[in-house]
Order: sequence, then C-alpha cells, then structure tokens
Amino acid sequence: MTTSTSVQDAVEAETQRIGRDLWAQLERRRPTVFERRWWLDHILEWAMADESIKVQMFRFVDVLPMLRTHESVARHLQEYFNEVRGHLPWAAQLGLDISQPNSLLGKALALNARTNARKMAERFIAGSKVEEVLKSVSRLRKQGLAFTLDLLGEAVISEPEADAYQQAYLDLITGLAPQTNAWPESRQLDRDEAGWIPRCNVSLKLSALCSHFKPIDPEGSAKAVKERLRPILRAAREHDAYVHVDMEHYAYKDLTLEIFKQVFMEDEFRDWPDCGIVIQAYLPEAGDDLQGLLEWVKERGTPIWIRLVKGAYWDYETVVAEYRGWPCPVYLEKWQSDDNFERQTQFLFENAKWLRPALGSHNLRSLAHGMAWAKQLDVPEGSWEIQMLYGMAEEQQLLFSEMGYRVRVYTPFGELIPGMAYLVRRLLENTSNDSFLRHAYDTSVNVEDLFRKPADVGAMQAAGT
Ligand SMILES: Cc1cc2nc3c(=O)[nH]c(=O)nc-3n(C[C@H](O)[C@H](O)[C@H](O)COP(=O)(O)OP(=O)(O)OC[C@H]3O[C@@H](n4cnc5c(N)ncnc54)[C@H](O)[C@@H]3O)c2cc1C
Repeated sequence: MTTSTSVQDAVEAETQRIGRDLWAQLERRRPTVFERRWWLDHILEWAMADESIKVQMFRFVDVLPMLRTHESVARHLQEYFNEVRGHLPWAAQLGLDISQPNSLLGKALALNARTNARKMAERFIAGSKVEEVLKSVSRLRKQGLAFTLDLLGEAVISEPEADAYQQAYLDLITGLAPQTNAWPESRQLDRDEAGWIPRCNVSLKLSALCSHFKPIDPEGSAKAVKERLRPILRAAREHDAYVHVDMEHYAYKDLTLEIFKQVFMEDEFRDWPDCGIVIQAYLPEAGDDLQGLLEWVKERGTPIWIRLVKGAYWDYETVVAEYRGWPCPVYLEKWQSDDNFERQTQFLFENAKWLRPALGSHNLRSLAHGMAWAKQLDVPEGSWEIQMLYGMAEEQQLLFSEMGYRVRVYTPFGELIPGMAYLVRRLLENTSNDSFLRHAYDTSVNVEDLFRKPADVGAMQAAGT
C-alpha cells in the first residue's frame, strides 16, 4: 500500500510530539542514587565506557560459571584484568596488586566478583525454578505489566536435551497457568476488543526442540520439531495459555517460518489465535516475510501475533558473513534497521486485523512512531502491545503501562550457566555505541538527535554532517 506524503508528514509530526512528551515524562522519573537500579546502571556505564575493560569483562563473565573455586576465580580475575590494569580505577588496581589467588584477600575479591556477576544476571534473568518465576511474574503483574517467559538454554545437541526443553515448557504451562488464571482480572492486561488474552504467555525457540535443526534437512527437522511442539501447543490450549515462536540466526529463519506455518495450518491448531512469531527488521527480507505471512494467515482464516524486533544477532551475522565470505544478510547501518522497523510497523498496523502488532523495542523513537500509526489508523490501544526485555528500560515499561498500553515483559528464566550467553548479548546490546538506550542515558544527549527520523539520519551521514 502506498501512503500519501501528507499522511506520512502527519504521522511524523505526531511521532515527534509523542516522542518529546515521553522524553519529558521520563526525565522526571529517572532512578535516584537511593535506588538499586541507579547503581547497576552506573556500574555498567563505568565498566563499558572503556572498550578494553569491556572485552575483559565479557571474557570473565563468560568463564565465571565454570570456575568452581574462589582461587580459580581470583586467578582469572588477575589474568584478564592485569592486561588492562592501566585503565582501571586505583582501588581496583590495588585489589589486583595485593591479593594472591590463594590468600584470604584473593578469596574475598573472588567472592565479591561472583556476587556482582550474580546481581548483574539477576537483573536480566527471573529465576531458575517455577516458584521463583511465579514470584517474578506476580511482581510484574502488580506493577501493571504482562509477561512472556523464555527458558534459557545452550544449543541443543542431543535428543535427551530436546526432551528436557519440551518437558520444561510442559511443566511451566501446567504449573503456572492454573495460578495465573486465578488472578483477579485486569481489563488493560487481559482483554482486547476480540476478547480474552491469555495471561500465561511463553516464548520458545524451535531449534531447541530437536537435536538436528538443519536447514539442509528441512523435512527431517520439521518432523522432529513438530512432534515435540504439538504437545506443548495442546497443553497451552487446554490451559488457556499463549505460545510465541522466537526468531534466531538468519540461517534458521526460513525453516522456522516454514515449520510455524505448517503446524498452525494443521486442523487441530488452525482456529487458534493465541500464537505468534518474530520478524527481525535488521533483515532487508523482513518486508517480504511479512507479506508472505499475511497471505498465509488470510488462507488460515485466524489471526496471529507478530512481534516486530530489530534483531539480536547483529554482531554474529556480520562476523560470520565476513569470515565465510558470504553476503551479509543484515543491514550494516543502524539507521537502516530503524527505518525498516518503521516501514514494517506501518505494514502491521495497516493489517492489524490479521497480523496483530507487538512492537518489541526499547527505542522511544521506534515506539512513538508505532503509537502515531495506531492513532492515524484508529487501531485501538488494546489490540496491539509493546514488549520489552526484563531488566531493561524499566521506567519506560512503567510509563507505558500507566499510559494505558499493554506492556509485556519478555522474562527469561533458567540456570545461570546456560544463561550466560543471554546475559552477554544483553550487555552487548546495552552498551553498543549505536544502542538507543546508551544514548538515552547519556546526559549530554540532544533530544533532536534522539528522535530524528531514520531516513534523515541516513541522509545526514551520506552528506557527512
Ligand atoms: C520483547 C522482546 C523480544 C525479543 N525477541 C527477539 C527474538 O526473538 N529474536 C531476536 O533476534 N531479537 C529479539 N529481541 C531483541 C531485539 O531484536 C533487539 O536486539 C533489542 O530489542 C534492541 O533493539 P531496540 O529497538 O530496543 O534498540 P535500538 O538501540 O534502537 O536498536 C538496536 C538494534 O539495532 C540493530 N543494529 C545495531 N547496530 C546496527 C548497525 N550498525 N547496522 C544495522 N543494524 C544495527 C541491532 O538489531 C540492534 O539490536 C527481542 C527484544 C524484545 C524487546
């Protein structure tokens, strides 16, 4: 659908108005030094300001769960951080100097490092047992936030691991849904104009449901995945729960979309609306994939949800493409991903009856633009939602909820060791030079720059301004 320039201009003007209003409201709500969040933000900020410390910190966080003794933790701390000692504050240098790995001081240093890493992980991971998870999602509910739960895990490489992944979701749905279904109703979180919205919402990765998820064997992979997926879908239907399929690396995208379409077209699931999939705007192919899903969903006859995100594997995709000498599947400029996110947002709102929009972003410009399109096309508040990650942009989550939007928090749960890869991805995202959140926390930031239309950012870059 082509849109007239006057409509585009009106949406842009509204985006600017909403964006600046959101910014002004957030300015008044920043955490203070008395809050734990302030300290976590500032520790992260300090550690990430220096590229060399950041690299050592990632190496350390990555290896930490495998270190069994205080002595080995202290030894790794010294090994990694001695390489960048000149960049550390004096107190940290002193700590490295005077503590021997097997001394009392070395052990204290190791204990401290472990506790801090655990706190950092707790900020992004909701717990490892169903009871801990229930506590976390109940807390979110009290704050006016909905949730989707995701089990953290390493790559599944054996059939017992795929069975365990399936069982964890079955346990989660059957254990949690009866409890969340008993919560008192919240109109904002539990209903839209089409009716009831399931409270117990889970997100899963298809590649974890089989030990050989291989694009070169689409039929074999699809068969194995569907066999483990169907019981999860049946349990979800039976318990009024919702199932969302996450998107992984580019190499898995087409197979993931294909399996999704096959299973949700089966007679048993064809009339079930409580499901959805992710589309990544950092892929130039996102528009074609959404068009394909629109045609498919019309044939299906029952709508699905689309979580639109930019994509979490940018570093991985660019490094792998360069290493193998393949064309890079993702955009190379940040403004291009932002711009595509906005184009696909418009597409979703224009087709919201079939592809129900869930905007997964912490970028205020991207979200303000979505709000402007919802208003332009009269899409009611309850029939689309905003999704954000657990532990990220918490003031924004609360603000949007107070404004009446349904905000769903993507809440990972699981053990710390398999969770470390997730943690490192979140740290990378939080601290990359191009990240919206990093700019938003920079006190010298210019609001004009923060809300500039992505295409204008591209034009300015091309002109070298
Ligand atoms: C609820 C929720 C669920 C999610 N589920 C998934 C999922 O299933 N699969 C998935 O892949 N991701 C997922 N993500 C992560 C998401 O893709 C983004 O990585 C993350 O949200 C950061 O994007 P942003 O819009 O919040 O921030 P922004 O700072 O505006 O955008 C950062 C993003 O821009 C892109 N980018 C950065 N640098 C460049 C560059 N030089 N050129 C081009 N693009 C660049 C990257 O995608 C990066 O993540 C999810 C996010 C949320 C909030």
